[in-house]
Amino acid sequence: MNIELQCCALFIIFSISVMFMYEKKLDLMNRRLFQRAIIACFACLIFDVLSVILINLSVYSGFNPFITEIVCKLYIMLLVLQGFFGYVYASTSLLPRDRAWAKAARTISYLIFALGEILMLLLPISFTAAGRVVYSYGPSTSVAYILSAVYILSTIITTVVYKKDMPGRRFIAMLLWQGIWLLAAAIQFLRPELLLVGFASSFGMVVLYIQLENPSENIDGPTGLFNTNALSAYVHDKYRFDRRFSMFTAKIHYLTTYVDYNMEQEAVMRTARALVNLGPEPVFRIDDDTFCVVYDDRERMLERAADIKKQKDGVTDIPANGTYLLIPDSTIMSGPDEFFRFLHTYLENEQEITVASEELVRRLRDQNRIKELIDEALRTDRVEVFYQPFYNVREDCFDTAEALVRIRREDGSIVPPGEFIPVAEETGQIIPLGIRIFEKVCEFLKKGEADRYGLKQIEANISAAQFDYDNPAKFVIQLIEEYRIDPGKLNLEITETAAARNRDIMLKNMNVLIERGITFSLDDFGTGRSNIDYFVNMPVTIIKFDYSFTHSFFENDKTKFVLTGMVDILHKLNMSVVAEGIETEEQMRVMKDMGVEYMQGYYFSRPVPEDEFITFLRQRIPTTDLQG
Ligand code: C2E
Ligand code: CA
Ligand code: CA
Repeated sequence: MNIELQCCALFIIFSISVMFMYEKKLDLMNRRLFQRAIIACFACLIFDVLSVILINLSVYSGFNPFITEIVCKLYIMLLVLQGFFGYVYASTSLLPRDRAWAKAARTISYLIFALGEILMLLLPISFTAAGRVVYSYGPSTSVAYILSAVYILSTIITTVVYKKDMPGRRFIAMLLWQGIWLLAAAIQFLRPELLLVGFASSFGMVVLYIQLENPSENIDGPTGLFNTNALSAYVHDKYRFDRRFSMFTAKIHYLTTYVDYNMEQEAVMRTARALVNLGPEPVFRIDDDTFCVVYDDRERMLERAADIKKQKDGVTDIPANGTYLLIPDSTIMSGPDEFFRFLHTYLENEQEITVASEELVRRLRDQNRIKELIDEALRTDRVEVFYQPFYNVREDCFDTAEALVRIRREDGSIVPPGEFIPVAEETGQIIPLGIRIFEKVCEFLKKGEADRYGLKQIEANISAAQFDYDNPAKFVIQLIEEYRIDPGKLNLEITETAAARNRDIMLKNMNVLIERGITFSLDDFGTGRSNIDYFVNMPVTIIKFDYSFTHSFFENDKTKFVLTGMVDILHKLNMSVVAEGIETEEQMRVMKDMGVEYMQGYYFSRPVPEDEFITFLRQRIPTTDLQG
């Protein structure tokens, strides 16, 4: 009897089902649909075999033909069900969920399916057998052919149309799956003795299982927990089907560098066990030392989080502690992209416990907006450098200026650095941005125009993040060489806080540049921790009094003494002083009396674009100099 292929197919489906059943898996929509498809495939194959047997029995041994007809009908109805599940499997993850047309398409596909099944049940069916050629025919079978073709084509079309929304692997697996079916149906149509369709559908399941639905792809090898892959699929699923969830994240921090690989493994395994013991919710390992648990219920998450924190106190022999990120309500993020951006950003938080709030999400959105603004400005060359002159008290001229970055929006308005420099430092964009600023400053110096009007030096701001450990000051050196700038014309402003955080790297970089002839200023003096050590032992030649420090002079006598004494000390250390934020004539006079060498402030000029700065210098140059 012609049932060998179907029996093989049954065996294949049986094997996949067993593997699928016994593997640890997440509750994902696709997974549920796949499970349904396997069951349909299995049932279909059984009725396939049964119908061949009964047709043979009816034709050759006079078995009741009515029963055979019913079985034949059930077989083709299940075949159509399989095609329908295939379409549902493809379209559920691809069609937009909130569009009216997609909802209509879904309803129509259900209606067509129901109608088709009823027709197949009611319309007449016949069957025939001659040797190995065994098949059913008639109106009922025709409906099955048409519907199967409709579903296969709809699945292929949906897959092709939404190609960009799925990984390449998925695209190929889907086409392969449907292609195998089409091919088998075509062959069976031409050679009716080859009953290939059942075999093809089980083979299609193998392709899907291996390529798309293999649960072991979602498992972290060492711990047996779910991995990042799995979390991504899970979170996407939750947002797609509007299922609110809560999440608890723990990150292990090793307190010393003496923690070796074995100790790390031990800590990881122990954490994994502790989290699994919390309950049935899925536990993920999303990084070497970061774990999370997803809950449906916010209260339960908070309870469990408290439990794990208690447990942690018992684990004392590994020098490690944890930081925790709690996300009580997933709906404060707009979707999976924002969710993962949030996770990524706040996992690095130094606080022990961070609780996701709308405020934090808003901050993230702002930061993201600024991040895009910076990228866009770099791409479209809208990074500008403004210059603010320093008044040289002794020489009574303007021979130095500070370069201050700006971003110009498309509408011409200006974004001040206070809005984007901190973000750039956090995101690392300060590296390309810093290079662009330096290029502009070098271009400006290269033109030589400012030189002609007496400008001796430009001061540029540099953040600690711009200094490199392995290749100190590489970008500065590259640019002064590329533009052939006299290094003596450049001065770099660093801040106390930057110097405090990364003192070694800072010093290493500074010394390389000082050797080349570049000088340094200490910026914002008087705001940070004004530890005398910083400026005494830092190779800086200029100290810049911060706006607030300068202004405190006018507040009371005490600060007046401190300031006067400070200027004195600095002079004894051979350093010059720049007073920032001079806005009035009185402030200027007081600072002058105190012996400050340079002054910077709106009283003289605001930071202005390059051409305005040149005009400023030209107007103030002594006429004798011009003649010379
Ligand atoms: P900063 O280095 O302390 O720069 C001095 C700031 O004081 C400038 O603000 C300047 O416009 C402002 N200022 C100057 N005179 C007066 C005054 O008389 N009164 C008042 N109220 N303010 C005055 P700006 O340009 O907005 O820059 C802000 C900060 O952004 C800078 O503070 C600096 O830390 C950072 N920054 C600016 N350009 C760069 C850059 O190219 N690279 C880096 N890493 N940071 C930069
Ligand atoms: Ca500065
Ligand atoms: Ca400053």
